[in-house]
Amino acid sequence: MLNKGPNKNWFKGNLHTHTTNSDGDTAPEHVSDWYHGHGYDFLVLSDHNHRTILDGSDAERAEWPHLIPGEEVTSAFNGAPIHLGGVGVTDLVVARDGESLVETIQANIDAINESNGLVTLNHPNYKWAYGDREIIATHGAWAMEVFNGHPGVNNEGGGASPSAESIWDRVLVSGQRMFGVATDDAHHFQGEFGPRRSNPGRGWISVNAEGLSDESLLEAMSRGDFYASTGVKFAELEVRGREIVMEVEPDTDLQLKYTVVFTGPNGRELWTTSGESARFTLSRIDDYVRATVYASNGEKAWTQPVFGD
Ligand SMILES: [Zn+2]
Ligand SMILES: [Zn+2]
Repeated sequence: MLNKGPNKNWFKGNLHTHTTNSDGDTAPEHVSDWYHGHGYDFLVLSDHNHRTILDGSDAERAEWPHLIPGEEVTSAFNGAPIHLGGVGVTDLVVARDGESLVETIQANIDAINESNGLVTLNHPNYKWAYGDREIIATHGAWAMEVFNGHPGVNNEGGGASPSAESIWDRVLVSGQRMFGVATDDAHHFQGEFGPRRSNPGRGWISVNAEGLSDESLLEAMSRGDFYASTGVKFAELEVRGREIVMEVEPDTDLQLKYTVVFTGPNGRELWTTSGESARFTLSRIDDYVRATVYASNGEKAWTQPVFGD
């Protein structure tokens, strides 16, 4: 639970990015340079079935964000891509196969947990691979991607398929505790940056932790002490018992305006307000509440759900 602590700070990081160790176009050193140069405090290099570890000199490491080991454990079932993030894995996770979609997801969740990683369910709508039914039938994942910056992942859903955010609500309603992350899934650091390319800087999390170390970041993340964003920042975000208190850091250059929507079970809108500050107390009858902040330029931030018990 997010509480103000005297020694706590907010650290910005991206959990999902590729390098030339898989299908990224840039070497891990330069990918790390990019993130450091753009204000990121930490980064997970998450290559497909490869644990990328950078051993730099002190001078080199000073030019990189804090690097948490990671991997995108990549498998498939009947052509449906099953990509799971292993954040903080302590050794290489070998992707596993299963007899069904659910078994394949579960086998890889288990493999990551056995290597001490936090499991993210990546881009469920990529090739429409899996949805809430499959997620609800599994257990042991820490978070799912409610936003992924790759152009091919169908964050918004469409046709009869729900958005990643709606999938999240359906999973929460089932009683499964699942956090939501926003990530880049960046592959392209060279050439033109554009909406149909997989460029960095689109989705991240901000973690409220005691320090910039694997231990304290992973501990804060596992507690849910973070928010996900595509651009909106909080000046304040605190959970006091059943109450969420927030203050958006306003973008005065662009004169952005903000709408805050508090969502409860079944994606039901509990309350909507405008402006930079909001607070909301979870009622006794609702199991959880989470908030989404919408900026007038399309950027968003998502708080983690606050549960009643
Ligand atoms: Zn992937
Ligand atoms: Zn990826």
